[in-house]
Amino acid sequence: MSDSLRGQRVLITAGASGIGLATVRRFLQAGAEVHFCDIDAEAVQAVRRAHPQASASVTDVADEAQVLAMFEQVAARWGALDALVNNAGVAGPTCRLEDMTLQAWQATLDVNLTGVFLCARSAVPLLRAAGGGAIVNISSVAGRLGFSLRSPYSASKFGLTGLTQTWAMELGPADIRVNAVLPGLVAGDRAERVISARASAGGLPPEQVRASLVEKVSLRRMTQPEDIANQVAYLCSAEGAIISGQCISVCGNVEYLG
Ligand code: NAD
Repeated sequence: MSDSLRGQRVLITAGASGIGLATVRRFLQAGAEVHFCDIDAEAVQAVRRAHPQASASVTDVADEAQVLAMFEQVAARWGALDALVNNAGVAGPTCRLEDMTLQAWQATLDVNLTGVFLCARSAVPLLRAAGGGAIVNISSVAGRLGFSLRSPYSASKFGLTGLTQTWAMELGPADIRVNAVLPGLVAGDRAERVISARASAGGLPPEQVRASLVEKVSLRRMTQPEDIANQVAYLCSAEGAIISGQCISVCGNVEYLG
């Protein structure tokens, strides 16, 4: 890849762990300027210690006032933005439809959809000020395949497809590209939590759940967070400059979800 990411001003949400942290590192390695946020203050401090060149904020993306304050900080630092990576997303409950509480449903949509909306809305004036740029929404293969026991998660990730396609149309004339990346089973804490939740919900040993998940992947292995970060970087680079409105699976081809 060319060095077109060098000097780019990039905001990454939920950058203190997992895919978000891999993305922070990927952009820093490429010479980009990075601001990341996370709801977890201690994790933000730890990442800042490791990567002092990045700026950071403790921000809950579902909270309008906190998102507005973060974008004020970013506007004060850069005055413009080249890329927004909407990575923050929660797994939500693992339970049957008839047992789902409204509160659990709403809490998932608040982060996974409203959080993306709030960040994108504030990013647009700054992307316009840069003369164009990129928004990358981190979705999931649960945004193209049904996922039993995970209704609000699946609904929120299918919703991101609508936002991605709609915003690509609205913002394309301003040279702002909008794409989604759909991870499948990504190695890390989140996958371990999903495996335990499914094991307890189904009364199964975790190893059996893990094997059944990997069996649904054509390449028969988990994706690494760096695989997702590389795709995000590509979409923000000069090589990705003609790609917009696309929802791209980076998952070893998850064939179905149980
Ligand atoms: P993770 O659980 O490892 O990390 C999530 C981070 O988000 C944490 O640091 C947490 O503190 C932060 N966070 C949670 N709520 C927040 C909020 N309201 N505001 C700001 N930060 C918040 O997650 P991950 O696995 O790296 O997932 C990142 C994204 O990738 C999510 O959108 C997720 O849905 C998607 N995804 C992950 C997988 C996977 O297997 N890991 C698969 C498909 C999609």
